[in-house]
Amino acid sequence: MSGRSARLTGMSRELTRRRLLQGAVALSLTGCTPGPTSPSREQTSARTKAPTGARTAAPTGVRTATPPSVAAAPGPTRADWRALAESIDGEVVRRFDADFDEVRVLFNPRFDRAEPLAVVEAASAADVAEAIAFSRRFDLVTRPRAGGHSYVGASTGSDAVIIDVRRMHRVRYDAGSRLATVGAGAGLYAVHTALARNGRSIPTGTCPTVGAAGLTLGGGLGVDNRQHGLTSDALVGLTLVTADGRTRVVDADHHRDLFWASRGGGGGNFGVVTSLRYQTHAARPMGFFLLSFPWGRAPAVLRGWARRVRSMPRSTWANLHLDASSGSTSVRIVGVCEAGDEDAQAAAMQREIGIDATSESTFRRSFLDGVRFLGGGSTSARTSFAAGSDVLAGMPDELAHTLPRIVARRAAHGGSAAVILDPLTGAVGDKPVDATAFPWRRHLATVQWYVGLPLHPPTTTVRAAQDWIGGAHRAIAGTSVGAYINYLEPGRPLAAYYGSHLARLRRIKAEVDPHGIFSSAYTV
Ligand SMILES: Cc1cc2nc3c(=O)[nH]c(=O)nc-3n(C[C@H](O)[C@H](O)[C@H](O)COP(=O)(O)OP(=O)(O)OC[C@H]3O[C@@H](n4cnc5c(N)ncnc54)[C@H](O)[C@@H]3O)c2cc1C
Repeated sequence: MSGRSARLTGMSRELTRRRLLQGAVALSLTGCTPGPTSPSREQTSARTKAPTGARTAAPTGVRTATPPSVAAAPGPTRADWRALAESIDGEVVRRFDADFDEVRVLFNPRFDRAEPLAVVEAASAADVAEAIAFSRRFDLVTRPRAGGHSYVGASTGSDAVIIDVRRMHRVRYDAGSRLATVGAGAGLYAVHTALARNGRSIPTGTCPTVGAAGLTLGGGLGVDNRQHGLTSDALVGLTLVTADGRTRVVDADHHRDLFWASRGGGGGNFGVVTSLRYQTHAARPMGFFLLSFPWGRAPAVLRGWARRVRSMPRSTWANLHLDASSGSTSVRIVGVCEAGDEDAQAAAMQREIGIDATSESTFRRSFLDGVRFLGGGSTSARTSFAAGSDVLAGMPDELAHTLPRIVARRAAHGGSAAVILDPLTGAVGDKPVDATAFPWRRHLATVQWYVGLPLHPPTTTVRAAQDWIGGAHRAIAGTSVGAYINYLEPGRPLAAYYGSHLARLRRIKAEVDPHGIFSSAYTV
C-alpha cells in the first residue's frame, strides 16, 4: 500500500464505509466538533484565478505585500513543475493527475470546490524549503496543510500551492527526556497510539484525524486541559521552515518570538512546521460520567456546571452540551476523570447543580479505549458542517437563560444544532496571559456553535446555519470576550481571536514573512 493509500484509509475511504451520522454523533460527544461557515470561492483563495498561477490579485480583506519585482513573474511551465518534483523526496500532485482529487480535499466537503494548482506532499523540511522557493520564484499563493480540518478551508485555495505535511507523521518518544517528537502531519489518534506504547500521552483534542500542527498552533482544547494545559502548553519546541527557506529550530532559547507565536497564534501564519516536540505525561485509564438533565432546568445546569468547573479536581474535566435535534432539545454533561472516581464526580456535579440527572451513566476505559470513545473511533469520516465560537468570562444569570433560548429557537424551526461549552479552567490558567499567544487564560469556557450539514449542502441550508450562528453571536455579544482561533469563521475580525496579542503577532509576521508568502484572509 502506498503512503497515500495508507493515509486515505484514515479519511476519504472511510466516507464510503461509515455513516455521516456516526461521525456527527462522535464529534458532538465532547466538543470535537467542527464548524466553518461556507466560504465563497474567493474566500478559499488569496488570489483570483489566472492561467499562469502567478499571484495577481487578492479578495477584499486579504493583506498581501507582493514585491513589485515579482508581481509580473511568469507562471511555472510543465518543465518547472517537473523540476520541482525531481528536486524533492515527496511528490507533486497536479490538476489532472489521477489522484489529484484524493489529495486536494479537506475534511469538510464544503471546500471541495477549491482547486489548488498543486499539492506538494513534502517528505522533509528540505522538501518544504524547495516548495517555498518554487512558490516565491513564481509568486504563487502558498498554504500549509496538516490534517486538513480547518473550519474555513484555510489549508486549501484555488490556484494555491498546498504544502501538505502528512508524509511527516512519525512519532518518536525519548524515555530519557520524556519528550515526544511528532511529525507535523501526524493525526491525533496516531499520536496517541504511538505514545501509549510507552505509557505516555500529550494533551490533545478528541478528533482522531485532526493534524498535530493545526491543533497545536491554535492552542488545543481537550479533556486533559484542566490537568495538563493546552496542547500548545506541552510544546517545548518545533521545527519551522520560514518564507526565506530557512529551517529554524524554535524553542524557549531560539527564535523566542516565534515560539511565543506558535503557541496559540494559529496555523498558516509564519511558515511551515515540520515537527513538534512535546513534554509528555502518563497515559492513564479514564473514568467517564455522562449526565442528562431536564431541558426546563438548563439555566440551573449551566450555572452549576460553571461553578463546578472552577472548583473540581484538576484530574476531572467536563463539558456541557445544549442540543437541538429535529425539533427537540436536550442538556447534558460529558465528564472525564481518574478511573475509579467517576461515580463520585458524577454525584459532585449533580450536587453542585442542585438537580438530579434524568439519566446517568458512569464507566471506565483503558487509556486507548477512552481515546477511541471520545473520538468516536480511530478515524473520522469527512463531514460537512458550519460552526463558530465565543469565549465566556463567566456565566451570569442572563447568559444562562440566553444560551438555551438560542438552541430552542433552532429547534422550534425543526433544525439541529449543538452548543458545546468546554472549560478553560484549571491548568490553562496557570500560565501568565502573555506567556504564549493563546489569550484566554482567565476565562470560564469556549462556546462552540455547531450545525451538522448534509455532505454537499445547498446554499440555502448553509445560509440558514450561518444565520443561526450569527444570531447566537449577537445574542451573547454583551458577555462574549472573543473567539477561539481553531474555530475560525469568515467575516470575524482577527482581534476577536487574539485580543491584545494581535499587534505582537503582526510584528512577528512582518519580520518572518515580509512579502506575505503565507498571507490570506485568515492570517495575521
Ligand atoms: C472534526 C473536528 C474536530 C475538532 N476537534 C477539536 C478539538 O477537540 N479541540 C480543538 O482544539 N480543536 C478541534 N478542532 C479544530 C482544529 O483544532 C482546527 O481546525 C485545526 O486548525 C485543524 O488542524 P489540521 O492540521 O487538521 O487542519 P489544516 O486544515 O491542515 O490546518 C489548519 C490551519 O493550520 C495551518 N497549518 C496546517 N499545517 C501547518 C503546518 N505544518 N505549518 C504551519 N501551518 C499549518 C493551515 O494552513 C491552516 O491555516 C476540530 C476540528 C474538526 C474539523
